[in-house]
Amino acid sequence: ATQAYDDQNIFAKILRDEIPAKRVYEDQWAIAFHDINPQAPTHILVIPRGPYVSWDDFSANASGETIAGFVRAVGTVARDMGLVAPGYRLLANTGGHGGQEVPHLHVHLFAGQPLGPMLA
Ligand code: 5GP
Repeated sequence: ATQAYDDQNIFAKILRDEIPAKRVYEDQWAIAFHDINPQAPTHILVIPRGPYVSWDDFSANASGETIAGFVRAVGTVARDMGLVAPGYRLLANTGGHGGQEVPHLHVHLFAGQPLGPMLA
């Protein structure tokens, strides 16, 4: 079962350039921008351009091409930012127990210091 997509969510507005964001990457599949409340020295959000509520919605309903494009974009962001050698962490909060607040799929990219075993 899929939740209906709310096109007034904050990331939908960022995608449409209705509100500003510090973009670091964009291509046909994804955009990436700095989190407004960073939890690490580098904290980027990568989101698909399509209207997917969550990791669950995306993994179940997006085409293989769309999934591949998004996954490749996430890797490209990290590579372009020079994060491969020092290392980085990806996180996709999903649903209530996952602590997801914005109902448009986003992958958090954390980097810039040793991150420890978990990051809230
Ligand atoms: P979630 O808990 O849904 O996984 O994470 C949502 C993230 O979006 C949070 O880390 C929060 O700081 C970030 N965020 C919320 N509103 C905005 C915004 O308007 N601009 C940016 N750049 N980040 C936002």
